[in-house]
Amino acid sequence: METSTDGELTFSNNTVITDVNLLNLALNASISGIIVTDNKLPDNPIIYCNSAFEVMTGYNRSEIIGHNCRFLQIDDRLQNQRDSLRQAVETGGNCVVEIRNYKKNGELFWNELYMSPIRDVAGEVTHFIGVQNDITRRKNAELELIEQKKTMERRILGPTKSIKEREDYLASIVATVRERFIVLDPNFIVLSANNHFLTTFKVSREETVGKHFYELGNGQWNIPQLKYLLESILPTNSSVEHFEVEHDFPHIGKKLMQVNAHRVELEGQYKDRILLAIEDITNVREIEKRKDDFLSIASHELKTPLTTIRGYVQMLEDSMPEDADEKYRTVLEKTSLHVNRLNNLISELLDVSRIKSGNFELYKAPFDFDKVVTETVEAIQAASKRQGIIITGSTGVIYRGDESHIIQVVTNLLANAIKYAPGSEEIRVHFSLVSDYLKFSVTDQGMGISAEDQKKIFDRFFRVNEIQQKFPGMGIGLYISDQIIKNHGGTLWVESEKGLGSTVNFTLPLNEIGKR
Ligand code: ADP
Repeated sequence: METSTDGELTFSNNTVITDVNLLNLALNASISGIIVTDNKLPDNPIIYCNSAFEVMTGYNRSEIIGHNCRFLQIDDRLQNQRDSLRQAVETGGNCVVEIRNYKKNGELFWNELYMSPIRDVAGEVTHFIGVQNDITRRKNAELELIEQKKTMERRILGPTKSIKEREDYLASIVATVRERFIVLDPNFIVLSANNHFLTTFKVSREETVGKHFYELGNGQWNIPQLKYLLESILPTNSSVEHFEVEHDFPHIGKKLMQVNAHRVELEGQYKDRILLAIEDITNVREIEKRKDDFLSIASHELKTPLTTIRGYVQMLEDSMPEDADEKYRTVLEKTSLHVNRLNNLISELLDVSRIKSGNFELYKAPFDFDKVVTETVEAIQAASKRQGIIITGSTGVIYRGDESHIIQVVTNLLANAIKYAPGSEEIRVHFSLVSDYLKFSVTDQGMGISAEDQKKIFDRFFRVNEIQQKFPGMGIGLYISDQIIKNHGGTLWVESEKGLGSTVNFTLPLNEIGKR
């Protein structure tokens, strides 16, 4: 590797890396996050990341390899800096940007990203190296300075709002809403609690206000994980979302509470306060459990007679006379088709209850990934003539995994692409090796999925609102697929823009069977 005068890295013919391990150790010792992307593969995926990058983003390697760098922006896409990055990729240039990125836990961090191309001997850009540093502290200090300046200006120029008025306003909200609210100061001392909080926990204001949050009741909130999250709120401007506490509370007994906590978004003296909203979800969870139990029993009960019906249909097919008339044949074919469809639906419902109860088992054995995937795609193509499915890429890998479940994932993704892109003519399937991972993608030019809905489509029974009436489905295909991929140590994710189509991808880590 050589560095040219303009700072670009280039491979030359006589490059000899004598000790790859040493190089690897050096990269992993760096405090800057370092990634390498492969510009020759579709969507320029990340093929290498060092340990600092994992620490910086909170994602582990298997959740990083195969993704395009934009996954760190989640849905904060309207950033001008992205244009500089896009331009650098298009023109093969260097660039430095300060960009808002998000860690796995949703926490914002400012990333100073230096991106530089690597060229082969022919001068073509083959890879990009990204070196990144977390500059959140500096950025926050800058932003705070701007904020302080604005506050000063407002104080001097604008009419001063009565602090008392604000306090009353806040207090009246906290007192009237149905949620149980308490406000903490930076040392976690309770400043106020609304009536609903006091009546729910059957405690008096004297027992609560002025006390340390972790000492309330019988120490129900003194949980190391909750403490860690609450203590991160002010320094990192993060929040606590849907944290569940199951506890035998004094006066009210065993309950399941859900805690959400945020910094109070007000300037001045209220700035460093934490607002906690606590919800009693004991009943909701109980109803959910009953629904799950019902689902499990119903699908088991349906499966038994259906297996018998399938057996009889099979018998009728086997004993069909040679000279059976056309009507007889058609009726039997249709019966068989619908019985199989029903069987698949019930099997999927059974999968959902197995996943919920932790009894979802996979049987892993080596299989030819490219062959199995190609055959699956071809079978789907044969049954659905409307859209042409174009397959590109290859992995050459004998993969050790649960073949029938991987087929189920590929089938689900393609069935969705066909279903939710009714007007388009083409669906693209691509699979390739990205570092030591298999990457599989399905791209359609259909209706796409909004950023808001993208967060929910892997949830059980979630279906995008406006499509519910138009397209059949139960909202469990992606949930099951996600679990299957996770069970193989991989990741499943979607990239989509409403109205512009979707790409659904998964990566699977290569195991000991490895390459052919
Ligand atoms: P189902 O298709 O049975 O509703 P899935 O779990 O497979 O269930 O998908 C969940 C939801 O995600 C779908 O209802 C649909 O709204 C959305 N979705 C999935 N794939 C696509 C796609 N390729 N294009 C647009 N929307 C999609």
